[in-house]
Amino acid sequence: MMIREPLIFEISEKGKRAFFLPEIDVPVKKEILQNLPLRSGIKGFPEVSEVEIVRHFTRLSRTNYCIDEGFYPLGSCTMKYNPKINEKVASILGFTASHPCAPSDLVQGNLEILKTAEELLAEITGMDAYTLQPSAGAQGELLGMMLIRSCLEERGNPRKIVLIPDSAHGTNPSSAHICGYRVQEIKSNELGTIDADDLAQHMTEDVAALMITNPNTLGVFEADIKKIAEIVHSKGGFIYMDGANLNALIGVCRPGDMDVDVIHLNLHKTFSTPHGGGGPGAGPVGVKRELEPYLPVPVVVKRENQYIFDFDRPKSIGRVHSFFGNFLVIVKALSYIFSLGPIGLKEVAEVAVLNSNYVRKSLEDDYHLKYTTPTYHECVFSDKFQREFGVQNIDIAKRLIDYGIHPPTMSFPLIVQGALMTEPTETESKRDIDMFIDAMKQIAKEAKENPEVVKSAPHTSYVRRLDETTAAREPILRWNENKKIEEEV
Ligand SMILES: *Cc1c(COP(=O)(O)O)cnc(C)c1O
Repeated sequence: MMIREPLIFEISEKGKRAFFLPEIDVPVKKEILQNLPLRSGIKGFPEVSEVEIVRHFTRLSRTNYCIDEGFYPLGSCTMKYNPKINEKVASILGFTASHPCAPSDLVQGNLEILKTAEELLAEITGMDAYTLQPSAGAQGELLGMMLIRSCLEERGNPRKIVLIPDSAHGTNPSSAHICGYRVQEIKSNELGTIDADDLAQHMTEDVAALMITNPNTLGVFEADIKKIAEIVHSKGGFIYMDGANLNALIGVCRPGDMDVDVIHLNLHKTFSTPHGGGGPGAGPVGVKRELEPYLPVPVVVKRENQYIFDFDRPKSIGRVHSFFGNFLVIVKALSYIFSLGPIGLKEVAEVAVLNSNYVRKSLEDDYHLKYTTPTYHECVFSDKFQREFGVQNIDIAKRLIDYGIHPPTMSFPLIVQGALMTEPTETESKRDIDMFIDAMKQIAKEAKENPEVVKSAPHTSYVRRLDETTAAREPILRWNENKKIEEEV
């Protein structure tokens, strides 16, 4: 039984301090501070002892789940383990202490890192040029669409529509919309992929681009990608690939070779930056030659053996981030790439795909699979078998918490009702994956024999089941003296 950790305000007692300094024994010169904006106190500021502070925050830190603690099969998120060596490299003083305003001749090493990262990402993905500025996948998508729009505008017509399959990640339609395009949905066929004939019917000269996630959110590879690209290109449109989950393909094949024109990557998924806590991340965007002139300024270039910032790019869409993006995330990505090397990177994809298929095959008798196509980095089960007993995906997800495992992504993609989208990632050992499989099998059994225990889960967690809408939309984050926090959440 867990005891609710009080708010630090609730354990506050007047006069308590973390430490006390000895009485001052020299004359006090108050006038030195006279014109400074000092406050005399903060209303309601908690007063606690040092041990109370330490224990309060230590206990709170242990109520959270993290990748260093266990398996985290959140689909489309690549919650993999990130080697600590990359953190170590990124924390070298030369990186952390270099000032973003430093003139380029004082930070030649940093600029070389940016340039090298751009070149290696281009090599890995088969693209011609990269910008490292965007700080997330979604920002990369918006930037990619802006590049397409600029190029089409220069050709004389920015066009109106962006085609997006119904299996796409939810950020894709948002990005296209924010960039001023109308989104038209392309239906998946029974394999869970784009139907080339359906696409051909939608593809007109009003269409600016097709945004495609490959492998898509079902974990299925769009095997017809070349044909799809041909259809879109033949009408003057662009192929935007969402490459957030590059761990499915890395080292094995290259989006650029599939005739993709623009791609974003999520360094915080594939390239060793822990994520899920709100950042920082990086969503670099790679392009083919035709779109290169529109990339954000400044661009790092090498002239006469010196790296410099090139601002002289008349067609550039401008900046999308202050300075050069999230520099330390890029350092970690480079460290990751160098420490694995080409063979290691290929192994990433091979093991990611192997692990996902192992999960899919091991659970296919216990959980319904709407699409039985072999998957890449993730697979999507549904609660169809369990619904017979009144148990839904949310119940299964919550019950997993009792088994000490983070739930998979739920109710996404929308084309699978009651979805449980599972991505084991390449970093999990067989033992940990088997533990997950055993837990899922056990829950399937419970759903049949004792559905109530699943429906009322979690039983062992710090808080029981929350009203998720209220928890997300009206979280109580601030102490309010007039409104005591409810005793039990
Ligand atoms: C995670 C993800 C995104 C969004 O990336 P953010 O960095 O969270 O903005 C986009 N597309 C796919 C396929 C993803 O998995």
